[in-house]
Amino acid sequence: MSQSKAKCTNCSKPMVAEYRPFCSKRCADVDLNRWLGGHYAIPAVEPPDEWDMAAAQSESETKH
Ligand SMILES: [Zn+2]
Repeated sequence: MSQSKAKCTNCSKPMVAEYRPFCSKRCADVDLNRWLGGHYAIPAVEPPDEWDMAAAQSESETKH
């Protein structure tokens, strides 16, 4: 059983099975509100290859 190793995805406290993957109703609500509020920055569209190459070039230039 590795159940005790599971952590709340919101605050990393030990997960409670009743509210999994969270530790409490509060954390579940917080996460839900984040989704509803659109605070999760999930890119819906991947950048085109040209943008990706330009970003990679400028990144290597600044690093070296
Ligand atoms: Zn939590």
